[in-house]
Amino acid sequence: MRIGRAGVDGASVVVAAHEGSWFDLGGAGIVSVAAALRAHGSGELTSLLGSCARLAIGDQQLQAPIDGDARILCAGFNFASHARESGKAEQLPAHPTFFARFATSLVGPAEPIVLPRSSSHFDWEGELAFVVGKPGRSIALEDALSHVGGYVCFGDHSLRDYQQHGTQATQGKNFDRSGAIGPWIVTADEIPSPESLEVFTYLQGEEVQHGRLHDLVFTVPALVAYVSTFLTLRPGDVIATGTPAGIGARRTPPRWLAAGEEIVVEVPGVGRLANRVVAEEDR
Ligand code: ZN
Repeated sequence: MRIGRAGVDGASVVVAAHEGSWFDLGGAGIVSVAAALRAHGSGELTSLLGSCARLAIGDQQLQAPIDGDARILCAGFNFASHARESGKAEQLPAHPTFFARFATSLVGPAEPIVLPRSSSHFDWEGELAFVVGKPGRSIALEDALSHVGGYVCFGDHSLRDYQQHGTQATQGKNFDRSGAIGPWIVTADEIPSPESLEVFTYLQGEEVQHGRLHDLVFTVPALVAYVSTFLTLRPGDVIATGTPAGIGARRTPPRWLAAGEEIVVEVPGVGRLANRVVAEEDR
């Protein structure tokens, strides 16, 4: 099943797609992505759809499929290919690296990402993210996949000069509306082995990144298990798995995103997330 958010009559409603139709889950009292994933995980969501109105949703109505209180963690240097291009692969690390993004740094599939006034070093990072469906702390590796509620395309787009201003990635990763997530979450029952997924990034239609999740340094279950050693995971929390090689900063000369261009993150079997770049002064 696909779970997402849509703008309907000025409100953001949680929606699910089932057998070709979108349903407004508000009819079943579900008003958060977290609640939708919980209901899906317990096997109740399909029967609840009977009390939900069908919606005719256009692509332009889909919004970022996250809740405002979701914690968004991003794994850094989790493809050996990207760690190598970034000079970080002398030896593979014993533990994953994480930074956090705020929900305000992410737009949905129908909105542009924003090239800010204060930086022109706007770079792409196509990724697969997963969304927690079942809460937990200190989750065993062998139980970890059962805590994943679904998968979603993630644009961890970054302002590289700000990322280098200090030793932490926070400012370069949290410009308003710089990243993207969507167009929807595909529930985990449809993705039995996330390591078989592939992520592609296209800039102006040209492939610039291609990674196989099989090549992750820390796998989806390993990320769940590790994060749950320090954080009680909640349904709706998002963990991005990292980007493969091919970012603009490592090209010669570097290639930055420009206003008017389109960046696409595609994970076959999950979705295709396309966002146009708009300059901040044009908004
Ligand atoms: Zn990233």
